[in-house]
Amino acid sequence: MGREVTRREFLAGAAAAALAPAPSAPCLVPPADPLSEFDLRSVQLTGGPLKRQYDRIHAAYLALDNDRLLRVYRERAGLPAPGAPMGGWYGPDGFVPGHSLGQYISGLARIGRTTGDPACSAKVADLIAGFAATLGPKDQPFAAPNAQNVWPCYILDKHLAGLMDAYNLSGVTGARDLLPRVFHGALPYIPEKGHDRIGKKNPPYDETYVLPESLFLAWKITGDRAFYDRALAYLLDRDYFDPLARGEDVLPGRHAYSHVIALSSAGKARQVLGDEKYLRAMKNAHSLLQSEQQYATGGWGPNETFIEPHKGRLYDSLRTTSDHFETPCGSYAAIKLGRYLLCATGDARYGDGLERVLFNGMLAAKDPDADGDYFYYSTYGSDANKVFYPKKWPCCSGTLVEGVADYVRNIYFRAKEGIAVNLYAPSQVKWTEHSAPVTLSQETDYPLGASVTMHVACNSPIAFTLQLRIPDWLTATPVLRVNGKRIHSEMRQGFAVVRRTWTGGDSLTLELPQAFRTEAIDELHPETVALLRGPLVYVEREPDANDPKHVRPDALRPAAGASGAFAAQSGARSRSYVPFYFIRDERYTMYSQRS
Ligand SMILES: [Zn+2]
Repeated sequence: MGREVTRREFLAGAAAAALAPAPSAPCLVPPADPLSEFDLRSVQLTGGPLKRQYDRIHAAYLALDNDRLLRVYRERAGLPAPGAPMGGWYGPDGFVPGHSLGQYISGLARIGRTTGDPACSAKVADLIAGFAATLGPKDQPFAAPNAQNVWPCYILDKHLAGLMDAYNLSGVTGARDLLPRVFHGALPYIPEKGHDRIGKKNPPYDETYVLPESLFLAWKITGDRAFYDRALAYLLDRDYFDPLARGEDVLPGRHAYSHVIALSSAGKARQVLGDEKYLRAMKNAHSLLQSEQQYATGGWGPNETFIEPHKGRLYDSLRTTSDHFETPCGSYAAIKLGRYLLCATGDARYGDGLERVLFNGMLAAKDPDADGDYFYYSTYGSDANKVFYPKKWPCCSGTLVEGVADYVRNIYFRAKEGIAVNLYAPSQVKWTEHSAPVTLSQETDYPLGASVTMHVACNSPIAFTLQLRIPDWLTATPVLRVNGKRIHSEMRQGFAVVRRTWTGGDSLTLELPQAFRTEAIDELHPETVALLRGPLVYVEREPDANDPKHVRPDALRPAAGASGAFAAQSGARSRSYVPFYFIRDERYTMYSQRS
């Protein structure tokens, strides 16, 4: 089997695609992209803040009670339903009954694939079996009237993701047979044609346009043409992708998260249909998000809605709302968009955006408690706190586990020869180059520190290219050394390109000097700024509410005894500045006045 075939399978996102019957619908050959994703089991986190959060999330979702998760489905089916009610969004009278079961399954399947933890695949198998037992003769996949009448597409998308990950990643073969059953059981409730959801509060809420990515993937696994046809019907071409592809700004006023996650459906449509208009749409959306919509964290969408640009609306939002960024869902969508674009273009700029929202969005999410309380909105106004959403088990409880499980997908990418390193984090990747196994290990205290060391392990000398993303925030020259000797590398689309014959034991070090800088909230308010250092947004911790908020980057000094923390003397008082992801229950201020 040639390399190209293997790469296309990765693009299809289904490692087990070879097991599936030949798809029965036309499929153009997808473009040969410069980068592709690794299988989840090829990459391991070995330390640092990403792994610490990953381990906490792994434990938290393994601890969810299966009976409680299945209760709403069992009640619907008239089966014995032990376990306490979940309540919140998830309960039978909740906002979206039973909505996130597929996402919990999906997240656990992804973590199990990476870590090899048998408890994850066992829990995935139990939840799939428990869910299958509730479907009944009509294959009813919805937990309650509110699910099937208001949110059928939204929930179907999560069901499909859970079933596909259970099949592809946890080896639950029965999950594949459930795909057509769940889909056909949902058909009486989902519309034949797609529609847009305009604002946060304009019904219909249900988001047909988030589904095509999952539908295309389910078609690839099952060969069932009905998935493919419905994917085409739900692509939001006329109102969204077509104008975006023409360079038009159609974001203002639209519901933020669903229209960013819809761009993953554009990414999948491009791979399946071979139509480059979807790539143009994604690129333009990414550029609009970065230039007009986004806060310093990479978050966007105050009150879940895209703003009208050039009118100072981001600045206004600091005072008019505390709901600045729907953090787990929004980060998940932005990171997926970044991955699609990085693979399609090989351009490091998409890795830069991905890094920003990963470290200041997903990583900065407050941990959940044990009973359904979850972080939802990040607040970027003054004297803020990280708080739980008032209702238990919201949407962000599903994207939190999926997004953290996906951390390993964002670090390394397969290139035509060798690999690209997109994120700097203690980790390891294994792959095969010219039929020989290679391991690359990364040691670093990044993002707090500037130094990254990589070790190559291979049995005999192998020629390959290592691409290293040189971040866009860098103001000083990065220093690259191989085996202690400084080298000068070619730059290509934001990556330093190091091609050589590598020998086991070779090491490479990269210095990415970090300095403080400020970034204005918008172009009408250049004096209202966030403080950044390297990829991280810094906030003032426990600010004095009576003290006007000013920031002077050149006055900051490393705080004694706390790696990553800085202090600035302000009269008799010392102000403390820490990365946003350090904050747990303390008050903080993100934006202040430049002085
Ligand atoms: Zn959410």
